[in-house]
Amino acid sequence: MIRELTCVECPMGCKITVKEENGVKEFSGYNCPRGKMYAENEIVDPKRVVTSTVKLSDGRVLPVKTDRPVSKKDMFAVMEQINKIIVTAPVKTGDIVKENVYGANIISARTIK
Ligand code: SF4
Repeated sequence: MIRELTCVECPMGCKITVKEENGVKEFSGYNCPRGKMYAENEIVDPKRVVTSTVKLSDGRVLPVKTDRPVSKKDMFAVMEQINKIIVTAPVKTGDIVKENVYGANIISARTIK
């Protein structure tokens, strides 16, 4: 099996090739250890930062995101938790609006007075 990945850890966007034969994975094309780690994680347990919006109690909406990447397999469950959140303003960028949702905090992505 051969997989081609684009590393997203920095703007260089290195093309990383993962060859798997008899359970042995061979990585090439990365230019630093972060790239190899990205490719290893992407093969075993891909993760993404989740972005969405939650309701404010006055009817407005607040953009939010997870403060770290979460496993792609947990993304729907994380969205279900996000959809239940109601926040009361004021709120600042970076404020935690819900702690420990599948290992990440949900934080405000905007300041709203
Ligand atoms: S492999 Fe290293 S240099 Fe290349 S995109 Fe990833 S982080 Fe950047």
